[in-house]
Amino acid sequence: MEKASIDIGESKSFKAELALEYMRLVLAKNQKMNLTSITDPLEFIEKHIIDSLVALDYARGDISLIDVGTGAGFPGVILKIANPSLKLALLEATKKKLAAVASMAGQLGIGPIDFYPMRAEEAAQMKGMREKYDVAIARAVARLPAHLEYLAGFVKVGGQLVAMKSGQIDAEILSAKNAAKTLGFGNIELAEAALPYSGASRKLAVYTKHAPTDRQFPRHNSLISNSPL
Ligand code: SAM
Repeated sequence: MEKASIDIGESKSFKAELALEYMRLVLAKNQKMNLTSITDPLEFIEKHIIDSLVALDYARGDISLIDVGTGAGFPGVILKIANPSLKLALLEATKKKLAAVASMAGQLGIGPIDFYPMRAEEAAQMKGMREKYDVAIARAVARLPAHLEYLAGFVKVGGQLVAMKSGQIDAEILSAKNAAKTLGFGNIELAEAALPYSGASRKLAVYTKHAPTDRQFPRHNSLISNSPL
């Protein structure tokens, strides 16, 4: 397993104060709506900001990246702060949450960002989004077989699908072997990092797409959940 590097030194444009301002905005908005259960600032910095940066190696340059099920904007917003050249799309099923993220990103002035208030199963079948992204990423959205099915349709052939995970993932990776093959993914690369304060382990499973995903995927949500590939 490779060590994931959180090398923001190379990304001289990373503006820590923007990330901290985003935290302040999220915590203020969190008083009125449920965006995150993490309200302690130090824990927020570690579990949302630094944790998002663990994926920065897969968000470098002017590539297109879609963050699926972004919730309060993680990891997408933080990756955009670290790399302003990123062509970022944020997709989230809960319209109210995404509207809040759009408003906060607007206040920070970190655009342009494309916002898609919809479900992944619907969006991944749309012509303008099908196999259009260099990278599709998600954190804490589903177990790996479902995660792969939600994201696969967005990724260009030759592009990457990134799953941000914690704890033991060997069994999950094994359980997703068939899904990966069926959806057009071959090579898998694993990276690991330890968060700085708690020491908690974070893992990235990065799949490279070698063949187009069959149009029948993603299936309806009930099938994805009840009959995983
Ligand atoms: N990625 C964020 C993070 O790590 O902080 C949010 C994680 S939250 C546990 C999962 C989010 O994924 C929720 O906001 C949920 O609405 C969204 N979600 C789940 N399934 C989805 C789907 N099929 N399409 C779009 N969004 C989805």
